[in-house]
Amino acid sequence: MGQYVFLDDAIVPWDQGRVHVASAAFKFGTAVFEGIRGYWNADDQEMYLFRMEEHMDRLAFSQHFMRYSEILTPEFIRDKTVELIHANGFKGESLHIMTTAYVKDEGGPGARGPVGLAITAQERPRSPRIESGVSAQISSWMRIPDQAMPMRVKCNANYNNGRLATVQAVDDGYDTAILMNAKGKISEGPGMCFFMVRNGQPIAPSTTNDILESITRETVLTLLDEMGCPAIERDVDRSELFAADEAFFCGTAWEVTPITSIDRQAIGKGGVGPITKALQERYFDVCHGITGAHPEWRLPVYGTGSAKANAAE
Ligand code: PMP
Repeated sequence: MGQYVFLDDAIVPWDQGRVHVASAAFKFGTAVFEGIRGYWNADDQEMYLFRMEEHMDRLAFSQHFMRYSEILTPEFIRDKTVELIHANGFKGESLHIMTTAYVKDEGGPGARGPVGLAITAQERPRSPRIESGVSAQISSWMRIPDQAMPMRVKCNANYNNGRLATVQAVDDGYDTAILMNAKGKISEGPGMCFFMVRNGQPIAPSTTNDILESITRETVLTLLDEMGCPAIERDVDRSELFAADEAFFCGTAWEVTPITSIDRQAIGKGGVGPITKALQERYFDVCHGITGAHPEWRLPVYGTGSAKANAAE
């Protein structure tokens, strides 16, 4: 773990990263957050924050939507994140960063501010699940609908919906869950978006299916286009999953993780499908800056990024 965290206005030792039990954030989950990855490139001796600008914009949207009394700006949060990585001196391993804008007030659920900022960064090597894939259970828990708690907003309180699905799936012997929405259509995983491939055609549930407007999902749509294999976005029925040749989850934390079975039925041959595999390779090349493509998606933390990583292919 990192030696330091950022809390409110200062970088402090990890153990001092504490929030008051009377805060609205603690009592009611009045907080919005982003999970962000930093990808290490050994050749460049550089840490690239992946799609930082988009994460910062979404965090600003979440604060606006929750009607915070003050909005912490994208520039402020970006600068504090870079300072925290410098303070910890992270080099050699990729990172997972959690950035939370939370309501400190000790009042009721209508509290709007003052707004605090908490940033943690921890080393996180690639998960073995990227190669092995995961088993998923179609959850009997329904994805919370937009009329109740919009998943489009990355509010901490929303995450108890995915938690219920996850703990049920794990207790039932699966790795994770797929949630359906109130329309009975496939929505997403607890903290990641869903794609399937049917007859060579990638398909993603559209953004009006009670999903987070995921930055990785948008990255994947772009990369699939560039690979000559564009995806379509539409409603997906439960029964279609069992006609899929391939399926995968995507998200900042989940990256591109193959789904090898759903409800114990193998997807395709039960391994990692060819489109998923090619996409994974492209995705990691872009995240780490191994290819020069999409330099606009990588923010170099140490400022040493090579010309290759900063120039289009
Ligand atoms: N859905 C949910 C519910 C999530 O929490 C996440 C993780 N932020 C995702 C999807 C993937 O979103 P992103 O690619 O922006 O990380």
